[in-house]
Amino acid sequence: MDFKVTVLGTCSATFAWGRHQSATLVQFDNLHFLIDCGEGTQLQFIDHKVKTAKLEAIFISHLHGDHYLGLVGLLGTMSMGGRKKPLTIYSPVGLKEIIEVQFKHSGTILNYELNILEHQANSPEVIAQFQYFKVSTLPLQHRVPCTGYLFEETIAKRKFRSDRNLEVVPVPAIKAMKEGEDYDGPEGKYFAADWIEETRPPRKFAYCSDTIYLPHLAAQIQGVDLLYHEATFDQEHITRAKETFHSTAIEAATVAKDAGAGRLILSHFSSRFKELDVLVNEAKSVFLNSEAAVEGAEYPILVNRTVTNTK
Ligand SMILES: [Zn+2]
Repeated sequence: MDFKVTVLGTCSATFAWGRHQSATLVQFDNLHFLIDCGEGTQLQFIDHKVKTAKLEAIFISHLHGDHYLGLVGLLGTMSMGGRKKPLTIYSPVGLKEIIEVQFKHSGTILNYELNILEHQANSPEVIAQFQYFKVSTLPLQHRVPCTGYLFEETIAKRKFRSDRNLEVVPVPAIKAMKEGEDYDGPEGKYFAADWIEETRPPRKFAYCSDTIYLPHLAAQIQGVDLLYHEATFDQEHITRAKETFHSTAIEAATVAKDAGAGRLILSHFSSRFKELDVLVNEAKSVFLNSEAAVEGAEYPILVNRTVTNTK
């Protein structure tokens, strides 16, 4: 199944150098999700040909403007565009009140059902489950309640073992066995565990923005295939990073290294950095497979090959 991420915004609070505010699209097969929705996200949707009709849910990390101020405009546009499919938004506490006030005073009535599910940002929990994957919160530490999100497949890719005779199992039972069900055949029971093998482990994507450096985060995202981590500052500005509850590129890379991540994409860059080389080079000194996120680029979630990637 196709599992990929498109970063649509890479700046922090101040627009600079052609970068946009935080917004990241996650696509899992036909299910599309948005994480954060900074000001102007719907313009990024137009530029990068993102179809809002496919959006299943939106995940907001925290209630600083650069992560949600594009939301009200996007919700209205989807309604005017004829959306009928319900939409769920997951967010730390407070978003429901913000949206209700704006809709109340603008007389906005959406043509679709909007569910805003608020969660406490202080402990990891599974907040959404779909057929083949789930989403958990990753408590972060910022100036207001903030959560990252972990997207995990719940089923590994499976196939019939090569030493088994596929012809004795009817086609409908093949699919069921790949999902772990046993098959009652005419000559007895065929146990899925004996017939099926995993060809790769379930894949994971972690989104961590905004946060002060959290050493324990690595344990919560252990083995993650793709890590998106904020890197607002370089090491020269580490004091500023601590004061503002942000991370440096080296700190982001340290989380990636300690988590045994497959690949790290840095984002949420301070406007003081026109060029990002300093951030990327610092990150690479700790975790080789680090890069600066590029707006509009697609990042496939590939199986983690960390052994060759970490320094
Ligand atoms: Zn931010």
